[in-house]
Amino acid sequence: MAGADYASNDHVALKTDLPLIGDAGYHIVSLAELVDRFRAEQSGRPAHSHGARCVAITFDDGPEYDAVDCLHPTLGPQRSFLGTLQDFAQSPAGRGQADICATSFVIACPAARKVMEDTTRSGPYYLHAGAMNDDWWSGAIDSGLMAIANHSWDHLHPALPRVAHSRQARADFTQVDNQGDADAQILDAARYIAGRTNGRAVPFFAYPFGHYNRFLVEEYFPDNRSRVGIEAAVTVDGRPVRTTDSIWTLPRFSCGYNWTTPAELLELLKNA
Ligand SMILES: [Zn+2]
Repeated sequence: MAGADYASNDHVALKTDLPLIGDAGYHIVSLAELVDRFRAEQSGRPAHSHGARCVAITFDDGPEYDAVDCLHPTLGPQRSFLGTLQDFAQSPAGRGQADICATSFVIACPAARKVMEDTTRSGPYYLHAGAMNDDWWSGAIDSGLMAIANHSWDHLHPALPRVAHSRQARADFTQVDNQGDADAQILDAARYIAGRTNGRAVPFFAYPFGHYNRFLVEEYFPDNRSRVGIEAAVTVDGRPVRTTDSIWTLPRFSCGYNWTTPAELLELLKNA
């Protein structure tokens, strides 16, 4: 939320984008559904009956603005992503998207979230005191329109006095290159998030900064599937998902980076 228009405010952009995605011929599905379809296509099983191409919507970092409307100090009232999804679901266009459910990737560590609040009180990453709470996670799941998933223990956030990493690596998730550090960032986060959602989080991971490495993709995730409980992971490599992709590096397009206007999003969807 840096301004009031599409290019500077993801909340404004989402409201415009939801009907646009349907108009472009896409079915909006949960990330779980997208992963199911990806697996089916990868293994050569027949595609789902929907036929149409699909889009899964995700949000990273999890301020409560994902699910709770807020009053921005200079921009005024802001509809949450969940509120925007609910408004859309009740509209004529939304009734044609009966499977819509977005996924919010949240940061687990309460102390780390508190530091993030204290260090980002203005600018495009504006957070008010308490904005990074985890009280909204379970209610968001109850809505049926939002799932909660794992965005690491502390994001190796550069503002933190200490991060859960053996070499205190910050702002570089490629440094999570061994079992101990991966457990501290991914398994511990999964356990905390499961605890706060009565075990109802979805089994997906979003790499902080979109950073991944050979260890995580080829060893940690595939070898620890049942122990860690993660079934797929997403990057920010800006391209469509292909059956040739790894389930551990599913790419995503990011609003504000890969597109900044509705016309640019339409172009991405047409060419996908
Ligand atoms: Zn992030």
